[in-house]
Amino acid sequence: MNQDKSQQHVESLANLIINLFYQETNLKPIDVKIEFINDLYQRRLELSNNQKEKNNLELGKEFIQGLNGTMVLPTDVNGTPHILISNSKIDDSGAFLGTIIHELTHIHDFHDFVKHVNYNSFFDAETHKDFPLIYQWSEYHARRTGYFFYRKAAYLIIDDISTEEQLEHIKGYECSFQLEILRNQLNKYENNATLFIYSIMQFLGRFSVWQDLFPNYINVNLFPRELLLTFGERITNLYEFLYNNKTFNDVKNKFSDLDILLKQFIK
Ligand SMILES: [Zn+2]
Repeated sequence: MNQDKSQQHVESLANLIINLFYQETNLKPIDVKIEFINDLYQRRLELSNNQKEKNNLELGKEFIQGLNGTMVLPTDVNGTPHILISNSKIDDSGAFLGTIIHELTHIHDFHDFVKHVNYNSFFDAETHKDFPLIYQWSEYHARRTGYFFYRKAAYLIIDDISTEEQLEHIKGYECSFQLEILRNQLNKYENNATLFIYSIMQFLGRFSVWQDLFPNYINVNLFPRELLLTFGERITNLYEFLYNNKTFNDVKNKFSDLDILLKQFIK
């Protein structure tokens, strides 16, 4: 495929997954601009709204360069958010489609939060006491939603795999693969409470989709032993809270409960 054709193909897949997302969720669409780019960090920096944000970005440069994609909120709640997808992460697996939905979910969550706390600016909302909580909850929610739609798209676009094969794949391979990623992240972010919890949220978001698919085989009573040994009840309590609070409406008045659960992970 030549460059233009493959670009068109990527864009039409992106539109397809977004349409699917709005059909299934019934959410009121938010206008976003999607860009496929080579240097995620550079573009992120260009789109930043102020010096404080630029300084924070510089601190997180390595982290951003490793991402599949990211989103950029405008200062004003009525401005246009961006979704940036790294060209290097676009491949036949279609995983970038999950990334688009992941970032779109963040955008919806932060819009909901800003309205909930009655602010007009995303920038101001970041100073709200509950912002660190919506940030972490949204990571669970975005991982869950992105992964759900990625799976849906993968089976629509790529091929049809039987239910038994899917369960085998998750139990035999995917779960231990994701646990290994989590183990590495927990070591790496041992002294960074925000990213330590963020990594846990990602794993739990994925786990919750497995539970939706195979509730008899994957659920809180059949939680990975490795995590139970490391965290004990702290992790199952957190997971149950998240699993029972799947939408912003569920969680919006429970941030203090979430705060208690998350604080237990901080030394
Ligand atoms: Zn995220």
